[in-house]
Amino acid sequence: MVRKFWLVIRPWVVRRIWLGIAHPSLVLWYVKQKFAEVRFRGVKRGTRDRCWCGSKLEPPELHANYSTCGECGSYVNCRPPLPSEIRRIYSYDFYWQMRQSWRGWPAIEDRAALYRADGRLDYWIQLIARYGTGSGQVVEIGCAPGVLLADLQNQGYSCCGVEPDPKVAQWIHEHTGAEVIAGVFPEIEIPRCDIFLAFDVLEHVHAPQEFLAAAFRSLRRGGIAIIQTPIEFEDYLRPFATRPEFFDDLEHLVLFTDRTIRRLASVVGLEVVAIMPAEFSLGGLCVLRRPDA
Ligand SMILES: [Zn+2]
Repeated sequence: MVRKFWLVIRPWVVRRIWLGIAHPSLVLWYVKQKFAEVRFRGVKRGTRDRCWCGSKLEPPELHANYSTCGECGSYVNCRPPLPSEIRRIYSYDFYWQMRQSWRGWPAIEDRAALYRADGRLDYWIQLIARYGTGSGQVVEIGCAPGVLLADLQNQGYSCCGVEPDPKVAQWIHEHTGAEVIAGVFPEIEIPRCDIFLAFDVLEHVHAPQEFLAAAFRSLRRGGIAIIQTPIEFEDYLRPFATRPEFFDDLEHLVLFTDRTIRRLASVVGLEVVAIMPAEFSLGGLCVLRRPDA
């Protein structure tokens, strides 16, 4: 019996001894990955049976934890983290170190270099130059690592960022000089603004309608909101076929189609100036405007 058991587990033991001798860094990486997974599983979740549009959601079919809203077409996470967990999830240690390492993505310290190198920073700045007001107050929700705010500040804009975690807000301020408010939008007050930015944020919020309604109230008349978020434009029955990682049920609470974005904008009173796939496989991009009157 013992011999049989040893024969079964021997390949596993030998492989791990070999890994430990030849590649101790791999063992450390493996342990860190497992530790991170335990922490992610420890996030408290609730259940959700209503879409942001108010419709009752059917049981998930598309994905273990996502339902498609039969009314508006949004893809809704039915087991989202509790709102009280948001600050912890997007904290310096949990999100900007452990979560990024687990994914193989750079930590906050290396994000600015990545955004400059892969072209997305120039892309965002061109969007703001093309659709924005050219001057005035900018507010960026979810502004880490702060590189966009710093560049816009150098162009003469007044800038203010928002991050849920005080440590992240402090880090950005120390490294870029930008003013950053710690808190979860729209729970916190932000300055009246001409340009409202939220890149890769809307999919992370529990109530996208309240988020955009607050953006509307924050914008001066004629002001512009530029929102980058996953948007499905073509195959609503098999969304994000080339980007299955968008169904990240720890982070993404609602995913959109172009039709749901138009509906959201209409509900809160924002005009749709443009809606299109974002460059660099960043999902979708929409430009919304608070009407003059
Ligand atoms: Zn809906």
